[in-house]
Amino acid sequence: MELLEERILNDGNILGENILKVDNFLTHQVDYKLMKEIGQVFAHKYAEAGITKVVTIEASGIAPALYVAEALDVPMIFAKKHKNITMTEGILTAQVYSFTKQVTSTVSISGKFLDADDKVLIIDDFLANGQAAKGLIEIIKQAGSKVLGVGIVIEKSFQDGRQLLESLGVEVTSLARIKNFENGQLNFMEADA
Ligand code: 5GP
Repeated sequence: MELLEERILNDGNILGENILKVDNFLTHQVDYKLMKEIGQVFAHKYAEAGITKVVTIEASGIAPALYVAEALDVPMIFAKKHKNITMTEGILTAQVYSFTKQVTSTVSISGKFLDADDKVLIIDDFLANGQAAKGLIEIIKQAGSKVLGVGIVIEKSFQDGRQLLESLGVEVTSLARIKNFENGQLNFMEADA
């Protein structure tokens, strides 16, 4: 997605060896017009798939996921990272190691929002080693729902998230694929959409 790649080049900052900071349009301040475009691209790709729910993980997946859900006209569910006393029954959980926070946490979705008829599209802001998406796949499978794909805004293709998800039999669609960070320079490879 050309518009997204331009924005990453203009506004992204490389931190250390393998982190990209995009807090002025995606992970903190959010550009809703760009999110709306992103929503359209994923919705176009999955228009005929019969998606019934979009699932993401809080917090930075929520903005793109909501626009995908709007474009597909289905509900969006975000997995919660913290225990909540209002979540009392039928909680589905998975352990997720956070790449950026370097801690393992329990993420959860209330079972009442997913059932065996659901066809789910997972959306997330970044794909690094695939742990967040893998946790969501585990939760969705516990509900008996089908995962039809994982849609990623920014994939760091030099990490092994895509291989992990494909080994689980799940299709990955990334709107920007970063090949490497070389001498402070960001290089893309061909994206999926
Ligand atoms: P994974 O679970 O695939 O290893 O990492 C994906 C999750 O870690 C995403 O949900 C995202 O929040 C966070 N993440 C991974 N890499 C980056 C990065 O380079 N920049 C930012 N801002 N978040 C990242």
